Amino acid sequence: MAGEGHHGGVTAVPTADPVAADRPAVGPAATDPGTLEALAGLVGDGEVVVLSGAGLSTDSGIPDYRGVTGSLRRHTPMTYQTFLRDPRGRHRYWARSFVGWPQIREARPNAGHVAVADLQRAGLVAGMVTQNVDGLHQAAGARDVVELHGGLDRTICLSCGDVADRGELHERLRAANPHFGPHVDEVNPDGDAELPDELLDGFVMVDCRACGRGPLKPDVVFFGETVPRDRVDICFAMVEQAGSLLVLGSSLTVMSGYRFVLRAEKLGIPVGLVNLGPTRGDAKVDVRVDAPLGSVLPDLVRRVTA
Ligand SMILES: [Zn+2]
Repeated sequence: MAGEGHHGGVTAVPTADPVAADRPAVGPAATDPGTLEALAGLVGDGEVVVLSGAGLSTDSGIPDYRGVTGSLRRHTPMTYQTFLRDPRGRHRYWARSFVGWPQIREARPNAGHVAVADLQRAGLVAGMVTQNVDGLHQAAGARDVVELHGGLDRTICLSCGDVADRGELHERLRAANPHFGPHVDEVNPDGDAELPDELLDGFVMVDCRACGRGPLKPDVVFFGETVPRDRVDICFAMVEQAGSLLVLGSSLTVMSGYRFVLRAEKLGIPVGLVNLGPTRGDAKVDVRVDAPLGSVLPDLVRRVTA
């Protein structure tokens, strides 16, 4: 389903949203104490289901190409269809990804990730869903995180289904490409670096360690790819049982996350949202805080655990 996933380096972002446009925004878009107190009231009631997006990881050096600081819109989109059908496109993806992987691997959780893990340890979180593929929630100590769009820490073989460790693949790629490693300044959220075409020919891709064929694909949902149905159903079931839904750092641009807000709204489950900048869901939420997550979330933890 087009527009479902988004981990191919998407540049085209839908801006018109007739659903949200017909309702006025609710609540003040500010960090005034009243709004934070309202958010703390929501979260303090417990049974919170967290839905997080790229905005939570920007403080960890992983760019949010849809947020206010997005700077990667020139990046050529890699769709699932291109990845499957175009060997050259696949080769380009893996060459860029080889160069960009160390930056993703070395990223560390920030205060926002730590705060979410603290909320979970305090017993207030009933479920965690992330659209991020960087593993930083888990690195901060969160448990039972559903990775809606998969994770960059592993690969899957499209021939035999073997799931392998990405770090191990990186070592195999390093052995096959001892002199390939141009300096790059920017990495997109897929761990996929800008790289001139003329460099790509020198890159050597390796095959699946299990079947000797492939191709290998990062175990993430690409733009134009459908999130596995059983994974979606698990998330819907969590949202339907939630005391509240807490959206963190997502502009809710893609339906793959936005549909959970719509489901919560339909069921009368309150929705809180913390994001820097406007989101598609602004008219649908009960409490909205427009501020940096790295300061709001630790404050939130202090309020609900005091
Ligand atoms: Zn294989």
